[in-house]
Amino acid sequence: MPKNLFPLDNTKKFTDQVHVGHNRWHPDIPPAVSVNPGDVFRVDCREWFDGAIKNDDSADDVRNAPLPGVHVLSGPFRVEGAQPGDLLVVDILEIDACDQEDEGPFSGMGWGYTGVFAKSNGGGFLTDRFPDAYKVIWDFRGDVATSRHIPECSYVGIHHPGLMGTAPSAELLATWTKRETDLIATDPDRVPPLALPPLPDSAILGSLSGSEFDRVAAEGARTAPPRENGGNQDIKNLTAGSRVFYPVFVDGANLSLGDLHFSQGDGEITFCGAIEMGGFVDLHVDLIKGGMETFGVSENAIFMPGIRDPLYSEWIAFSGVSVDLTGKQHYLNSQLAYERACHHAIDYLMKFGYSDIQAYMILGSAPIEGRFSGVVDIPNSCATVYIPTRIFDFDVRPSSDKPHQVKQGINVPKSAN
Ligand code: ZN
Repeated sequence: MPKNLFPLDNTKKFTDQVHVGHNRWHPDIPPAVSVNPGDVFRVDCREWFDGAIKNDDSADDVRNAPLPGVHVLSGPFRVEGAQPGDLLVVDILEIDACDQEDEGPFSGMGWGYTGVFAKSNGGGFLTDRFPDAYKVIWDFRGDVATSRHIPECSYVGIHHPGLMGTAPSAELLATWTKRETDLIATDPDRVPPLALPPLPDSAILGSLSGSEFDRVAAEGARTAPPRENGGNQDIKNLTAGSRVFYPVFVDGANLSLGDLHFSQGDGEITFCGAIEMGGFVDLHVDLIKGGMETFGVSENAIFMPGIRDPLYSEWIAFSGVSVDLTGKQHYLNSQLAYERACHHAIDYLMKFGYSDIQAYMILGSAPIEGRFSGVVDIPNSCATVYIPTRIFDFDVRPSSDKPHQVKQGINVPKSAN
């Protein structure tokens, strides 16, 4: 087992650990640990809400989720010798949930959750159809996830970090803040908001204290969006075996990661989102000196996805075009087309006895594939969503038989308003 350079104890708050991580992006958050190119090491990661979501049958904790405190990230890891302009090579060697049988303190829980935020609290991809807060609990047995809230459905998870990236330079951070606050200014009262400005409330900044803490807390970028440094990309294919090439913007690169997912569908459409879990990641790091210029990598990380995927060979797919639910025609809007494809899939699964929220939760968390199938045929873009048929215990294909009806048990928890 590689040496664990960032151990976390599941019984303690994120701020009471041996190493205190962070939940904002800023070049002046000091590295927690130093490593060398060529090193292999283990990193524990907390689930993104640091234990606020409970294994129970109420969604009030999702409704009250402490959003200013996300994402709790492990790091930064300083990579000796890394300089701006280099590429940081990160191999994801292994990633898994820790469970209670593991020796000693552990970072995981042996279970995970998928949530939907209320529209007033950030919403989700289909927030007009699902304006309330919901939660589903998943139990892990090896790599298989099942839920007491979703009958007759199980699948093999494709574990990946939802969030990993390097620290921005001061100039890049200023660019982010300007463009995002400019966007917010176009509609400052929108619900949900257009973007999230810097917020000192609940900032965790590693070992910083005093006036330096206050300055960095006021300037630090929120971790919700993906940006040039990678960040919260929520790419389900960053499984074990992946190699990611991150641009380096500061001395030491200052790599951080967290928001581990047991499984996720393309788009993480439920927002809270995938199957969220705590666990560990084994990493190997290296450098390509001057690689940003040599390979033209300035806009964002490039990567080679892992090849450890579940073997699903048969899919049932749904398409959508860029016409909204009121029947209004939109011009080549692939986001809208993907929404319509997802609505289509939900309506289909409901014919088998699932509630709409159960179907939505399956699309957010199961290893579904989402694709931009056509983006040029004016006025309609076409998007498609592919569901593996074998995740269901019954035959989900259309036939001349009446659709099988799933046997309902515990309802999906919905928050009291
Ligand atoms: Zn997540």
